[in-house]
Amino acid sequence: MVKQIVRDVFFLGQKSEPATRDDLQVGRDLKDTLNANRDRCVGMAANMIGVKKNIIIVNMGVIDIVMFNPVLVWKRGLYETEEGCLSLDGVRKTKRYQEIEVEYFDFNWKKQKMKLKDWPAQIVQHEIDHLSGRVI
Ligand SMILES: [Zn+2]
Repeated sequence: MVKQIVRDVFFLGQKSEPATRDDLQVGRDLKDTLNANRDRCVGMAANMIGVKKNIIIVNMGVIDIVMFNPVLVWKRGLYETEEGCLSLDGVRKTKRYQEIEVEYFDFNWKKQKMKLKDWPAQIVQHEIDHLSGRVI
C-alpha cells in the first residue's frame, strides 16, 4: 500500500524499535511507497511512512532491497558529501563511509550480510540514521 510521507521533524527525531516477523507488511508498504516516489527517492526508512520500526528500503539499481533490523558491522573511508531527503527540503552536508558491510534480516527472516560501496552504501547509511532519529 502506498503511504503518505511523514515530514514531521519531531516524529522523525524519535528512535525506532526492533522489527519482528509481524512487520513484514511494513516492508511491502515501503516497496509500494518507494515505487510511487521513484522519480525523487532512492531509499526510505519505515518512520518516513509513520512506523517506528527498524526497517529500511534501498534502491540498488534494478532492484529495491528491504532490510529488517539493519546494522553496520564494518565501515571504511570517511568522506564528506551532501544529501537530500524526501522528508526535508534542500540538501545538507554530512559524512559517510565509502565502503560498508551491513547485516539485516530479509523477508524470509534469514540473516543476510552485504558489502556495499559508493552510492548504495551512502543510501544505507542515510536510512540507518533515520532509525536512530537522525535526519541527515
Ligand atoms: Zn532521508
